[in-house]
Amino acid sequence: MFNKVLIANRGEIALRIHRACKELGIATVAVHSTADENAMHVRLADESVCVGPPAPKDSYLNIPAIISAAEITGADAIHPGYGFLSENARFAEIVNAHDIVFIGPTAEHIRVMGDKIAAKEAVGRAGIPLVPGSDGAVTNLAEAKQAADAIGYPVLVKAAAGGGGRGMKVAMTAEHLSEALSTAKAEAMAAFGDDSVYLEKYLITPRHIEIQVIADSHGNVAQLGERDCSLQRRHQKVLEEALSPALTPDQREEIGETVRTAVEALGYLGAGTVEFLYENGEFYFIEMNTRLQVEHPITEQVTRIDLVREQISVAAGNPLSFRQEDVSYRGHAIECRINAEHPRTFAPSPGEIRFFHAPGGPGVRFDSAVYTGYRIPPYYDSMIGKLIVFADDRDACIARLRRALSEMAFIGIETTLPLFMDLVDDPEFQKGDYNIHWLENWLAGKD
Ligand code: ADP
Repeated sequence: MFNKVLIANRGEIALRIHRACKELGIATVAVHSTADENAMHVRLADESVCVGPPAPKDSYLNIPAIISAAEITGADAIHPGYGFLSENARFAEIVNAHDIVFIGPTAEHIRVMGDKIAAKEAVGRAGIPLVPGSDGAVTNLAEAKQAADAIGYPVLVKAAAGGGGRGMKVAMTAEHLSEALSTAKAEAMAAFGDDSVYLEKYLITPRHIEIQVIADSHGNVAQLGERDCSLQRRHQKVLEEALSPALTPDQREEIGETVRTAVEALGYLGAGTVEFLYENGEFYFIEMNTRLQVEHPITEQVTRIDLVREQISVAAGNPLSFRQEDVSYRGHAIECRINAEHPRTFAPSPGEIRFFHAPGGPGVRFDSAVYTGYRIPPYYDSMIGKLIVFADDRDACIARLRRALSEMAFIGIETTLPLFMDLVDDPEFQKGDYNIHWLENWLAGKD
């Protein structure tokens, strides 16, 4: 096992990784920007190194500074968390070149899955069902037209380098294709410095269902069931559930086994998530994330498997501590992403948290790095905590969620807490009867 892990991240995920390390007897090194001097991940880590000014490109994305921090402190591994450098293949290579272990898959897997066109080809060959789409990139309108005619409208123009819902435009009919193509390309260039795009059939009422996998370097691959992440705003997840209220045990078993076999064929190492759209009983692959996901705790709660602990352990060369046949599901878990944002306009609300009270009691987990007196800096993602609740079944879980939400209090900043308080009382949500557009329609209905 490692002696010391450098955590190349901030906020709740830096704390989550720190906690897993401490329970494994591993020392931790926090890196931070000048804006995060008083952050909880810095306070709790065994050591900390300032890696630059507030802007992410100068600190949390500053590869030379992070490598130097690892070398100075003698860290033998780096955990990238999610976001920032977690899906940067070049970073993984540089880390390895310094004889430090990158806690994640190989640079090659990160690279292939980071290019959605290459990813579709790779997983398609491995037997995973795909969304019907263009055969690779489309470079001009004529090619796009030809592909769209073959797929059938509506179509979605998507950035090959996409992430965070950016570089995605729908063309409902042929007349809209030209504009969708040029805006998606422009957005992709601005966000990712790469304007390659491809086309996909635009599914009208799918759910977003994703399968968690983890693999060791001894040939063991396990799938840990699914998460339903259909409740989204601007293609960004807002609330997630495990397991999905939409799948039967047989469907779960079947897609899980398809994914497990494919991931095995790919020779993948570490934790990963295979994301699908699910409509009328069919699964359609959209992408594979080669890292820990924000919503990993709900899988941990229903499987009773510590994903971060396993992730660190397999990176150190150990076998998984369990086998596929040991995986079973118990109860239901829901996660709410609490953002420092106005609950209706979603305008960011940085500033000082003058008072904060965390919820507690049976079946409640709050993954967060905030505290009373903490000043939320304006430079980073607005997610300030994840409320995770779990109970014997979905109805009990919703009742517990309502109770936990009512205990939580923030004074000094706006949060998305009121949105969730409303949502838990919605009959359609309670029935689990929703798709990827449901939340935006529901929000529009509140205006
Ligand atoms: P990103 O990497 O930007 O998150 P994804 O490919 O994972 O992009 O898609 C994010 C979300 O966008 C999905 O969860 C879904 O809501 C929507 N989406 C993506 N592809 C399609 C599609 N072919 N049809 C309908 N919606 C889609």
